[in-house]
Amino acid sequence: MKKRVLVTGGAGFLGSHLCERLLKEGCEVLCMDNFFTGNKANIIHLLDNPYFELIRHDVQQPILMEVDEIYNLACPASPVHYQFDPVATTRTSVLGAINMLDIARKCKAKILQASTSEVYGDPEVHPQPESYRGSVNPIGPRACYDEGKRCAETLFFDYKREFDLEIKVVRIFNTYGPRMHPDDGRVVSNFIVQALKGRDITVFGNGLQTRSFCYVDDLIEGIVRTMNTDREFTGPVNLGNPEEYTMLELAKKIVELTGSKSSIVFRPLPEDDPMQRKPDITLAKKVLGWEPTIGLQAGLEKTIDYFGERLNG
Ligand code: NAD
Ligand code: UDP
Repeated sequence: MKKRVLVTGGAGFLGSHLCERLLKEGCEVLCMDNFFTGNKANIIHLLDNPYFELIRHDVQQPILMEVDEIYNLACPASPVHYQFDPVATTRTSVLGAINMLDIARKCKAKILQASTSEVYGDPEVHPQPESYRGSVNPIGPRACYDEGKRCAETLFFDYKREFDLEIKVVRIFNTYGPRMHPDDGRVVSNFIVQALKGRDITVFGNGLQTRSFCYVDDLIEGIVRTMNTDREFTGPVNLGNPEEYTMLELAKKIVELTGSKSSIVFRPLPEDDPMQRKPDITLAKKVLGWEPTIGLQAGLEKTIDYFGERLNG
């Protein structure tokens, strides 16, 4: 019998790639989404697959169903979107986690949480290992997302301790690739769209803050490998590409790869914007035998091709 897998946030950027991957592996996939930042276009090619089912549902509301595995990805991920309705963001992370954990508890399903490098806040430890407890401002504009995700991790571990659930937690670092929303506000999509449209490229602050960018295919591989680990392995495990770049380097690279005539301009740095971020992936290498295989240039080229087609189409 096919494994029945629920993917929340399945119509989003990462979720749609995950649904596709699981269908290829022979799973029956239930994609749950409220389309807050997700898009039907991301999954339209899956809709006539008899093993793919779309459920329009908000994870803030309880729901029950029979599944074998749950990947909990539902949550806006871009600062612009998660700060649009911060209370809804916290509710999505916290109530969404409770509602999905309750499904897992009811039908003894294995459940994976898409957590984030944001649990490390603006880190004083560099690179960040899983043992680092983070430096998050609990009352700032990013807190709805950061603290919501931290609380979701707490809930996962409490459901394991209290109800013996089989849980997995992955801490995802900045990931990019085809199907990011063009108006998503995240740096890679912003810079590529600006470059392709010949608009100014907006570097926030002095552009010396760093991020480490993972291509989507590598990330999906890491998530699936984590779900398939032995019961004893819970994570949290960092998934990301440790190649670190400043935002100014990224802007210059995108100008070069697109051959754009855009100018680089500087805009104010958003409040609480982390200065540096780079995953320590020692644990992922050891337990999952995983490390990224697609470097920034190759990943950006694929992403630029995607946006080129999307903006012209
Ligand atoms: P995304 O915004 O493209 O996808 C999120 C999806 O969740 C969307 O389809 C959205 O409509 C859906 N959603 C939001 N609120 C919902 C709700 N209340 N009920 C049901 N569905 C809801 O973002 P993404 O980049 O694909 O991120 C997916 C997950 O991975 C998120 O949980 C995010 O926090 C996590 N993550 C992503 C990154 C990254 O760089 N992409 C980094 C760290 C963590
Ligand atoms: N950023 C930028 N210009 C933009 C969008 C973002 O310089 O048009 C910066 C942002 O200030 C941050 C980095 O790029 O330092 C990554 O931002 P993103 O929103 O993609 O992810 P996060 O801050 O959540 O890691």
